[in-house]
Amino acid sequence: MPWFVKPKFTILKSQQTIQNLPSGMWVKCPVCLKVIYIKDLEQNLKVCTCNYHFRLTAVERINLLADSGSFTEFNSNITSADPLEFTDSKESYIQKIHKTREKLNLNEGVITGYAIISGIEVVLASMEFAFLGGSMGSAIGEKIYRAICASLEKKIPLIIISCSGGARMHEGILSLMQMAKTSAGLAMLAEKKIPFISILADPTTGGVTASFASLGDIIIAEPGALVGFAGPRVIEQTIKQKLPEGFQRSEFLLDHGFIDIIVNRKDMKNTVKTCLDFFNK
Ligand SMILES: [Zn+2]
Repeated sequence: MPWFVKPKFTILKSQQTIQNLPSGMWVKCPVCLKVIYIKDLEQNLKVCTCNYHFRLTAVERINLLADSGSFTEFNSNITSADPLEFTDSKESYIQKIHKTREKLNLNEGVITGYAIISGIEVVLASMEFAFLGGSMGSAIGEKIYRAICASLEKKIPLIIISCSGGARMHEGILSLMQMAKTSAGLAMLAEKKIPFISILADPTTGGVTASFASLGDIIIAEPGALVGFAGPRVIEQTIKQKLPEGFQRSEFLLDHGFIDIIVNRKDMKNTVKTCLDFFNK
């Protein structure tokens, strides 16, 4: 289970609604506190004028990168089992999964497939945070692994957009095993010198950071994205020290060599194209 789930897309509810503004049509930027008309925000790729990047869905991220109509999904029917018969006081894991599937019309927390980006064929995977915090269980691990295999088979680059709270604890050790499985797959890709571009969206944490998300030949992050393993509060309590300002945000991580480049959403497709051209040479 992710160690935090913080809604970023704050739709103004009636008690918050500023006078005369219809509710549900406006959002408040959590950084500059500006109230923004949702349609304006969507036209600007869900980026505020202060450059705060609101979270996108997995499908929106695919649409942002892939040439129009070029995405062909595969392995969409892979779903999680419930090996531990996990349940908490409210509902079982399997009930939770069914409810989320229906709500999002999505079988799991990652969408994988073939895509064309500015004329170049790639394998593209995009994680969905709204699906149990984008947590990686057996199904996500398997889908990522099969995406790696598809990339190996066709000898085309792999791009994974991560957005996840980490491993899915409802599946215990089986979720942690996916870290080794996906990392081993990427080692095969590296051996064959097939490029892997890792894109980190807010948030990318836990077992996803500690496996495939950190193994890109190029690691790109969105501005202000939270990227880390354990959360800042856990680290502060463990080391009994105050963490520096901006710790675990992409700007801090760029300064410390953990990521290669921070890219604004509007420039993402061009940057990925530049990287793909570089590898093609
Ligand atoms: Zn703002």
